[in-house]
Amino acid sequence: MTLPFIIVGGGVGGLASAIYLAAQGRRVLVLEKNERVGGKLNLLQEAGYTFDTGPSLFTMPWIVRDLFAAAQRNFEDYLDISLVEPMFRCCWPDGTQFNTSQCVPQLVKEIERISPSDVTNFFRFVARCAQVYDRVAEPFLYQPFRGFTDFLKPQLLSDGLRIDAFRNVDATLGQFFNSPHLRQMFNRYPTYNGSSPYLSPGTFNIIAYVEFIYGGWYIRGGMYQLARALLRLAAELGIEIRTRAEVSEIVVRSGQARGVRLKDGQEIEGSCVVVNADPLYAYQHLLPGQEHMATALDKLQASASGFILLLGVDTCYEQLTHHTIFFNRDYPLEFDAIFEKGVPAADPSIYVCTTCLSDPSHAPPGHMNLFVLVNAPPLNGRVSWKREAEGYRNQIVRKLELMGLHQLQHHIVFEKIMTPQDMQNYYHSARGAIYGLASNNPFSAFLRPSMRAPRIKRLYFVGGGTHPGGGIPLVVLSGKTVAQRIASDKNIPE
Ligand SMILES: Cc1cc2nc3c(=O)[nH]c(=O)nc-3n(C[C@H](O)[C@H](O)[C@H](O)COP(=O)(O)OP(=O)(O)OC[C@H]3O[C@@H](n4cnc5c(N)ncnc54)[C@H](O)[C@@H]3O)c2cc1C
Repeated sequence: MTLPFIIVGGGVGGLASAIYLAAQGRRVLVLEKNERVGGKLNLLQEAGYTFDTGPSLFTMPWIVRDLFAAAQRNFEDYLDISLVEPMFRCCWPDGTQFNTSQCVPQLVKEIERISPSDVTNFFRFVARCAQVYDRVAEPFLYQPFRGFTDFLKPQLLSDGLRIDAFRNVDATLGQFFNSPHLRQMFNRYPTYNGSSPYLSPGTFNIIAYVEFIYGGWYIRGGMYQLARALLRLAAELGIEIRTRAEVSEIVVRSGQARGVRLKDGQEIEGSCVVVNADPLYAYQHLLPGQEHMATALDKLQASASGFILLLGVDTCYEQLTHHTIFFNRDYPLEFDAIFEKGVPAADPSIYVCTTCLSDPSHAPPGHMNLFVLVNAPPLNGRVSWKREAEGYRNQIVRKLELMGLHQLQHHIVFEKIMTPQDMQNYYHSARGAIYGLASNNPFSAFLRPSMRAPRIKRLYFVGGGTHPGGGIPLVVLSGKTVAQRIASDKNIPE
């Protein structure tokens, strides 16, 4: 029997690479440390409530459709996706509310209601983003990314200005929007890759563009249905998946990855090893002798983490929509706390996702399931979450009460807190960061760890820690690219 291609980690990136490799006819083995696959795409079902504990929004569905097509399958036979309306409800402390919509006339009506002059500006903004998207999608998302050699292509250098790479997201938005509310709303999008709108390049306005133009989708039954669908497809393709199988070392002989050693001591030989675990964690813990790589990566800024409350409440709050955001008064201060001071924001913006509004089975009748997410700093030794989680939780609950969730504390009948420390412990996300490295400067894409390990043959990385970055669609693209690169790697036996 041929040796398997070993994937270390059953996150979405790991599963996507496994499927693309199996579709090429390879024998694939996925080893996942936790009790189920999906990685950060995870769920909790308890006390009659269902919570998606990671992603709540599904974008760029064509990328996952392509994954199913590569395996000669039809995405629609596995997943049922729908748009939610309103897309988001934004609430501000001054009482302003704004519903984003996937229906253009409805959206125009809303913009006109809070800032008439910004209707034309919105369309100018979309046109600008469309140009930027057209320039960056191919080289940065869809093409295999090979690092500085790509950067040195003269075309990309001259494109820097045309893709708003040299001014930040907030400054770029300032050229379009008059309303401070709309500017703050669009400033939120760099948080989708764990970055700050005041530091990350204006290029990232394309995240908002992708959501407004191509849609923010929900997966019927909950986001975890995606992990179930990938698991089903993997089984159909004959991929072997072992859960509760933690890898403790990648076995390297004569400069080549030859297999892995599990925590229980078992050694498994493989043709190639693809690491879906965080690259910094892998260099620190799985690859003896590669400490210099870990030291170099550890010097780079980590993406934001998250502080999460899963709340089951015995009432229904009318003001909540499927996605609701309670913005704070001083957005720059929030990101200054997270990225400059490395501490939780004193007055954070709060995102609440209430999937029971789309899937009533996610909470008992008359109850709601509140997934509450606040941006948090990655672990840096300055915050002891063990000590501070309870106090921060109280602060967030009080703020939600002030924002109109009447007597929230009194209505909580189930709760669980998840901190950046949990993110590190449970998923081995180095520094608890959700998206690997932050994209807080124009060159960050070039600093991400490369997909192919520089000094070890037959060793690859896949997922949010490498290229093109974090988020469900991008880690699926990462799976596709890694399989393509492996297919053309002469060091790997057929
Ligand atoms: C709170 C939150 C909200 C988010 N919201 C969104 C959203 O709305 N939309 C969106 O698109 N994305 C969102 N994301 C991001 C998205 O979830 C991630 O980018 C994506 O799931 C990462 O997938 P991955 O495969 O790269 O890594 P992971 O999901 O981290 O998978 C890595 C896997 O490797 C396993 N592993 C680690 N070490 C070992 C080992 N030694 N042995 C075996 N297995 C190991 C881990 O257990 C894990 O299962 C969110 C994430 C979080 C946490």
